[in-house]
Amino acid sequence: MEIKNDEISAMVEKVLQEMNRRDLNVSESDGVFDDMDEAIEAASIAQKELICMSISQREELISAMRKAILDNATKIADICVEDTGMGRKDHKYLKLKLVANKTPGTEVLKTMAISGDKGLTLIEMGPFGVIGGITPSTNPSATVMCNSIGMIASGNAAVFSPHPGAIESCLISVRVLNKAITDAGGPRNLITTLRKPSLESTDTMINNPKIRLVVATGGPFIVKKVLSSGKKAIGAGAGNPPVVVDETADIVKAARDIIAGCCFDNNLPCIAEKEAIVVESVYEKLIAEMLKNGNVYELDEQQKQKVLDVVMNKTEKGGKIKYGVNKNFVGKDASVILAAAGIEAPKGVECLICRAENLHPFVQEELMMPILAIVKVKDVDEAINTAVLDEHGNRHTAMMHSKNIDNLTKMSRLIDTTIFVKNAPSYAGIGFGGEGWTTFTIAGPTGEGITNATSFTRQRRCTMVDSFRII
Ligand code: NAD
Repeated sequence: MEIKNDEISAMVEKVLQEMNRRDLNVSESDGVFDDMDEAIEAASIAQKELICMSISQREELISAMRKAILDNATKIADICVEDTGMGRKDHKYLKLKLVANKTPGTEVLKTMAISGDKGLTLIEMGPFGVIGGITPSTNPSATVMCNSIGMIASGNAAVFSPHPGAIESCLISVRVLNKAITDAGGPRNLITTLRKPSLESTDTMINNPKIRLVVATGGPFIVKKVLSSGKKAIGAGAGNPPVVVDETADIVKAARDIIAGCCFDNNLPCIAEKEAIVVESVYEKLIAEMLKNGNVYELDEQQKQKVLDVVMNKTEKGGKIKYGVNKNFVGKDASVILAAAGIEAPKGVECLICRAENLHPFVQEELMMPILAIVKVKDVDEAINTAVLDEHGNRHTAMMHSKNIDNLTKMSRLIDTTIFVKNAPSYAGIGFGGEGWTTFTIAGPTGEGITNATSFTRQRRCTMVDSFRII
């Protein structure tokens, strides 16, 4: 009897999933379903149980989720990289730790009270019910886990339709969290997902009447789709974050920070430095400092072309050349990219830098690879204007290295991004080495910004007339 290749792959996948489940001591059925409508129904039943629990009991479930993430972070980080073939295990681990420690819980839900001659009115933040979460391949487990904490803190259940290229990362995250919740006395299936998600099952989820809010974290297509679904939707979309360096910056620190941000998880984070715009008086010094980092390799013009030919697809239409990202190289190690381009990789290389004109595709496209194009401009005004153009109106993230507060303020106003980081790597903007809570769903298009439990609530008002004032 002949066994087909896809049957062998399915068997290997099944065995690996079984091993992962055993390693993490979770069962097959923890929140994982074969049918999307059944997954939603189960979550809906669980949500009704959740809202009967007190806020402190809800907080106990969240503490258990945090602990489960920390206890299993190393293993889950490994699964994410093995499952998707993207990113770095050490950095995936750091992201999961950040999620466990800095995703807000119930403490951010605030009640408003209005009292007057006519009595008392309370405004509280209530749940939507069941939330449909659509999560990216670039950041699979951290998004599921961060969303889950925020959604449950606000009294919701969550149903996830993960990227088909990141199924195991999502399944294992859902199982680990459900086990933690039930072990802590919470309802079964508060977080559910599909064993075999597909683009069609995402549509089924969006259209199910029990889904009252859709939260999409991903590229422009999915954000547009949920925003035209006729449902309340939160859209966390693509970015192309520029970093500007002016002549007043601490160049040694700027070089170090930019490379650290650009290399983080092989540049998969939507907030990561995607191109640098540098004033000419410090351009050479910045590049020289970057090269001192030891893990940085500068591509010459010929090598830049070779890498371009490998990591981007070129198409021609009506005499116009268009470049698109070759997804096979998204989130890959710098050494893998160099090898594919036929360039001998220096030992320990983590980041590729190159000099580029501003219209170069490495600047204009969201590569999500550890490649940083560095553009030279005349002065800070040109730098800011160029960065605004390169950000493409995504209103996502930008960085600036400068000691001039007027320059910093000017860029912040003109670039108008959801996150603006001054004098630090991009990840400081999501609470990693910077103040503030974390999220992996940065909702620029719909304006919730750095989402947390409050983003997943709806206002409810209760009025008592002529009573309950205390004065
Ligand atoms: P993607 O857009 O390919 O996929 C995101 C999600 O949308 C997945 O769950 C996928 O299954 C779903 N999807 C995509 N096309 C669909 C279709 N036709 N029908 C139904 N569902 C569909 O994104 P990706 O490659 O996984 O992630 C990278 C992108 O996400 C980048 O653009 C990045 O900037 C963005 N991102 C944004 C944030 C943020 O917080 N703003 C966070 C992470 C990633």
